[in-house]
Amino acid sequence: MKVLVLGAGLAGVTAAHFLARDGHQVEVVDRQSQAASETSFANAGMITPGHAFPWGNPNAPKILLRSLFKGDQALRLKLVPDPQMWRWGLKFLAECTSERTRINTERKARLCVYSQRKLREVADETGIDYNATRKGALFLYREAEAFERGAVRMKILQDLGIALTTLDPAGVVAREPALAGAKDKIAGAIFAPNDESGDSCLFTRRLAQRLESQGHMFRYDTQVIRFRAEQGRIVGVETSAGLLTADAYVLALASESPKLVRRMGIDLPVYPVKGYSLTLPIGPEHRPPEICGVDEGYLVAFCKMGNELRLTATAEFSGFNTAHEPGDFDGMIRLVKDLFPNGADFDHPKYWACLRPMTPEGTPIVGRSRYENLWINTGHGHMGWTMSCGTAQALSDLVAGRKPELDLAGMEVPP
Ligand SMILES: Cc1cc2nc3c(=O)[nH]c(=O)nc-3n(C[C@H](O)[C@H](O)[C@H](O)COP(=O)(O)OP(=O)(O)OC[C@H]3O[C@@H](n4cnc5c(N)ncnc54)[C@H](O)[C@@H]3O)c2cc1C
Repeated sequence: MKVLVLGAGLAGVTAAHFLARDGHQVEVVDRQSQAASETSFANAGMITPGHAFPWGNPNAPKILLRSLFKGDQALRLKLVPDPQMWRWGLKFLAECTSERTRINTERKARLCVYSQRKLREVADETGIDYNATRKGALFLYREAEAFERGAVRMKILQDLGIALTTLDPAGVVAREPALAGAKDKIAGAIFAPNDESGDSCLFTRRLAQRLESQGHMFRYDTQVIRFRAEQGRIVGVETSAGLLTADAYVLALASESPKLVRRMGIDLPVYPVKGYSLTLPIGPEHRPPEICGVDEGYLVAFCKMGNELRLTATAEFSGFNTAHEPGDFDGMIRLVKDLFPNGADFDHPKYWACLRPMTPEGTPIVGRSRYENLWINTGHGHMGWTMSCGTAQALSDLVAGRKPELDLAGMEVPP
């Protein structure tokens, strides 16, 4: 059958890959001039089942409230007059109980582990080179108390079979010699030996090119405007290139997805959360980290991708706003210089900001909508690189009428 996939980010292109593998003819539509030009463009690159925690947890409301008065918080709330933000916020608060945190962590962790396996299968099968590094991930703590709390928190993931160990400062430096100069600033780290990293933009673009070379169509520079539905079925999509039709449709437009289906009676709880991303060149004279990781105090992620060092930070609730200026990155640069003083060329930064398509639970939305030929694959939030191949496989299973290997409880499309 012909499947029209809306969105050429990680969610759309991986869905297209698995659907094509099942023998479907796929057409992918995106408003940008190439794949992975929005959220999937410059993320932190980390594939981290070892960090599969949802944002909703008993501490999150306090941090958000504090951020209204102190702008330096990793999680920031900027008041905008958008009713969708407040509706989403109330749902998010409901996910911040201990019990909901436990349930969401378990679901997310299972998806991340499954998805990592699927990503490796795609990489093996396609031979796509995306600067993959399989050396684990380090989650660094600067304060002893926070390190102890982190070690307690990691137990829930260990109980699910995810390998995690604690390292003292000497152990951290033994794993990552580039941190030698910062040894005295670190209380310890949690090390996830099976976590990995890679460039999601390269991966997505190369996967898209592979599909194109197999005869599937990518229609770029095309704005998706609205669905046309009749008698419980989608009969076409109005776009800037005219009406496009197919037998089935996959909605993978990230934070824009809810707008497309809201007036059709589908309420997708996906809201944009802005993140900042900085990319620095690495020359032969630099000593960058070879293992990806996160400074847990400020939630700044660092990841070497080929001859560049990627840094990302901040979760800002400020609506559909991707504006950024160099000053927004000062804190991030200071912090990374503190850890890796000679890690990269700090004088030639590339700045970027984009929107994570977040659900209140932290798990994506995958499945069939109330329209029998409309499928949803969105809401991958802050871990869409880690979770995309798993959800794409599960989606293609559902489209084919197969029972997905992955338990999709909690990820269903709202009725
Ligand atoms: C700062 C930052 C760091 C991150 N770090 C990590 C990480 O280390 N590990 C990890 O696992 N995940 C990470 N993520 C999350 C990950 O990048 C996202 O979850 C993922 O990219 C989402 O993919 P997507 O396909 O849903 O969205 P997108 O890549 O945004 O794709 C959606 C596509 O839809 C298109 N589109 C939207 N509306 C329309 C329309 N109306 N018409 C036509 N086209 C449209 C867009 O052009 C876009 O190409 C990070 C995210 C951010 C912001």
